[in-house]
Amino acid sequence: MSWQDLMAKKKHLLGDGAMGTMLQQAGLEIGAAPESMNIEQPEVVKKIHLAYLEAGSDIIQTNSFGGSVLKLSRYGLADQMEAFNMAAAKLAKEAIHEAGRKALVAGSIGPTGELISPFGTLEPQEAEEAFALQAQALARGGADLILVETMTDLVEAKAALSGALRTGLPVWVTMTFEANGRTNWGVSAKEAVEALKASGASAVGANCSVGPKEMLATAQELAKGGLPVILQPNAGLPQLIGDETVFPLGPEEFAQCMKPLLEYAKIVGGCCGTTPRHIAKLRDLLAAH
Ligand SMILES: [Zn+2]
Repeated sequence: MSWQDLMAKKKHLLGDGAMGTMLQQAGLEIGAAPESMNIEQPEVVKKIHLAYLEAGSDIIQTNSFGGSVLKLSRYGLADQMEAFNMAAAKLAKEAIHEAGRKALVAGSIGPTGELISPFGTLEPQEAEEAFALQAQALARGGADLILVETMTDLVEAKAALSGALRTGLPVWVTMTFEANGRTNWGVSAKEAVEALKASGASAVGANCSVGPKEMLATAQELAKGGLPVILQPNAGLPQLIGDETVFPLGPEEFAQCMKPLLEYAKIVGGCCGTTPRHIAKLRDLLAAH
């Protein structure tokens, strides 16, 4: 089933929740590349996908957020880029098959972790090439679309979008806006949606950093752009308790706080701190909506 068919069939599509925090709970060592789990412990990754599919996700994101050569080179794993990304998409596809569900695989692409010139040494063209390679590996592994996510710099977001579009797959882009409606690079939702739409994104949105409540104004701005909007907030604003980061919204509260956002979004899910239980509550909300 194509993403357009799925979009046409349902008022809202349900995304998934966090991957990173779930992997940590499953034993990912601190300081290890999460993408290495795709090869070393594929069953662990697949189990997380299955939990989200069981919770009702229509779209699951591959475990490849940090899978660009630029990011992997920090772990000395740049040569594993293709293997990690292909495996990431394959695992998600297999999980959908095993679950017997009609769902889409979104190939996740996060920031390189480097600053783009003139603020850093990375040239936009170089970033685009790295993103293109990652997107191609995700496509070869079976991704149905590419989701560029958690971007704060519009130049980098556009580089990722251009690189990912070379696959011929639809590309969705979500940026990370703070409660003031801007990314920490100062990009407004209006600016983002206009630029990304003009550059060929099929859907745009916001993920991470804030909870659903703090995402409302951003959602309203994004919806004005005329593209399907994706909203994947955290389980509330992170709080530091002792030396542990805690996300305050439980599954039920999270779903309730998502309610006002449904008017503006086509695709809803969660980011940091959200679990299959949060997604299941969100599914119930959508069913009742
Ligand atoms: Zn997040």
